[in-house]
Amino acid sequence: MILILLGPPGAGKGTQAKRIREERGIPQLSTGDMLRASIASGSLLGKRCKDIMDRGDLVSDEIIEEIVTERVKADDCRKGFILDGAVRTVGQAEMIDRVLSGLGRELDVVIELTVDEDELVKRLNGRIEETMARGEQVRADDNVETFRKRQAVYREQTAPLIPYYEGHGKLVRVDGMGTIDEVGDAISEVLDGVAKK
Ligand code: AMP
Repeated sequence: MILILLGPPGAGKGTQAKRIREERGIPQLSTGDMLRASIASGSLLGKRCKDIMDRGDLVSDEIIEEIVTERVKADDCRKGFILDGAVRTVGQAEMIDRVLSGLGRELDVVIELTVDEDELVKRLNGRIEETMARGEQVRADDNVETFRKRQAVYREQTAPLIPYYEGHGKLVRVDGMGTIDEVGDAISEVLDGVAKK
């Protein structure tokens, strides 16, 4: 099963991707995590991305192509994988289609988590407080100003993927405003339906 999780920053894609990974035994491919790992390792790629990420912009399609193309060829992706925040522009969607077709594979489903943006800002504040209470470092792009910027970037550059995947008959909407379990169960139902096809 190859699936994409779509939704604005803070919609819970990462949380739900982890749940799907546990339930279905397929890896979660988060380009955000991969890029943060590159920054932490001090690599050239990380250096090229840090400022862009800190201000809430998207890194180039070329960089995403470079990291995703290699990753999907790995052995653990044979059964399928979850693209978590890894497809954010129409150019990237076309690239994923090309890469998958080169591997003789096909995308199964795109799940859009629908959310209320103001509610997301409240959730963000809660997350910042919890992270600080644990004595952990808050992500550089986890502040209200950058968050709003990332929302705007989502609306401008990523939301066009919704009609794109609708046109390909791949899009399923799931209400992302429930509890983690409610949203997870709704996603599970969708994936069970897709698996039966
Ligand atoms: P995330 O953890 O998914 O919210 O990603 C954090 C940041 O990494 C984003 O705000 C972007 O700057 C960058 N990023 C992650 N994935 C992509 C992508 N597929 N295309 C462009 N930029 C990305």
